[in-house]
Amino acid sequence: MTKVLRHLLWKIKPDPQRQAPIRYVQCRGCEEKSPVEASQAEGDLWAMNHAGRTGHRCYREFAASDLIATPIRDSR
Ligand SMILES: [Zn+2]
Repeated sequence: MTKVLRHLLWKIKPDPQRQAPIRYVQCRGCEEKSPVEASQAEGDLWAMNHAGRTGHRCYREFAASDLIATPIRDSR
């Protein structure tokens, strides 16, 4: 059995076929989470509403982007 192995250099970049990063906000006091949105403003609004309703003041924002690996050249 023969295997041919190729060594390539790769770069990682945002996938142009995908949407903007998705994000949500989580309360650090009770761990309630906002809906997943593409807009930071929606997460901020959720946190302000949550603060007004509960008095909780500390939040953590999570954001995720889709990435794509692209070979840039053969290193052989
Ligand atoms: Zn809370």
